Amino acid sequence: MPWPEGCVWRDQPLANHTSFRIGGPAEWFAQPKTIEELREVLRQTARLGLPLTVVGGGTNTLAADRGVRGVVIHLSRGFRGVDIVSSPEELMARVRCGAGVLTQRLVYLAAKHGWGELELLAGLPGQIGGAVTMNAQHIGRFVRQVTQVALDGTVRQVAREQLRFGYRDSSLEPGIIVEVELEFPRIPAAQAYERIHRALAYRNTTQDLRVPSAGCAFKNPPGLAAGRLIDQSGLKGLRVGDAQISTRHANFIVNLGQASCDDVLGLMEHVQRLVWKQHGVVLEPEVRLVGERWPLAPPQTGAGLAERARP
Ligand SMILES: Cc1cc2nc3c(=O)[nH]c(=O)nc-3n(C[C@H](O)[C@H](O)[C@H](O)COP(=O)(O)OP(=O)(O)OC[C@H]3O[C@@H](n4cnc5c(N)ncnc54)[C@H](O)[C@@H]3O)c2cc1C
Repeated sequence: MPWPEGCVWRDQPLANHTSFRIGGPAEWFAQPKTIEELREVLRQTARLGLPLTVVGGGTNTLAADRGVRGVVIHLSRGFRGVDIVSSPEELMARVRCGAGVLTQRLVYLAAKHGWGELELLAGLPGQIGGAVTMNAQHIGRFVRQVTQVALDGTVRQVAREQLRFGYRDSSLEPGIIVEVELEFPRIPAAQAYERIHRALAYRNTTQDLRVPSAGCAFKNPPGLAAGRLIDQSGLKGLRVGDAQISTRHANFIVNLGQASCDDVLGLMEHVQRLVWKQHGVVLEPEVRLVGERWPLAPPQTGAGLAERARP
């Protein structure tokens, strides 16, 4: 099959590319190193009529046990550059980042150079491309411009004014983010370091970071905290197979070892049903499923895997 040389592999287990450590194989797993290779992968994908999925750091992703049909694109090598494009006299620091840059690399650079407000992103796993797609920790407020390769291979630049960022959401058209320009206020480096250090310590005490997970399983409903609703429903510690509601943070589902995607979805369905029954609130998944078996059964009618739930 005429894929660009040395960047597309068959049947790559997605468990190796997600923080949950869950997921069957990607039929084709593409790691293009340049925009031209990426465009060639997109052309070939379209020619073959294959579905396309993008996985960044895989830290907000739940991959199906049966895997993902078609092509999974993952940007890493070749998309990891960070260029400081502002001069030191400018009030704001401007940085151009490849989409594959780890968000924590940016946080490290913020502490070194004195970029303010990056404590918001301290400890946030995953890549810049994924964070912008999800508007994780409101990263959208720093974005000046996004460069995307559209599904037809066109490269387009989207300016801040053309973008809207919502709660765990952005208005970007379908496509692959390849580069992001961000802007931060300057502060003394020691202050940036101190704030980041404090934010990391706080995250360590509130989140369950010892075991694989994808962070929060559900979005917070308007004005409410999903974790509190789950906790008040008495669900902390509940298990389906090796998937467990974290005993530390009720909105985290953790993989105790051999959890399957179906275990996690079964647990999520159970949580949705109980929270609906006890609080009349429908919890919407935050974690994104790739592959088949989605959406969750609506809480009023769902049945099945929840019977396996055990405390
Ligand atoms: C321990 C832990 C703690 C977390 N804490 C937080 C938190 O405090 N706040 C928060 O908001 N989130 C949190 N998360 C969730 C997650 O880390 C963030 O949403 C993160 O920014 C996702 O980045 P990623 O690269 O891993 O995205 P992925 O999971 O790989 O992808 C997420 C989405 O972005 C798309 N995507 C990824 N890269 C690209 C690209 N280059 N172009 C186009 N689309 C792309 C994917 O298709 C998918 O739809 C946490 C997760 C974990 C495991």
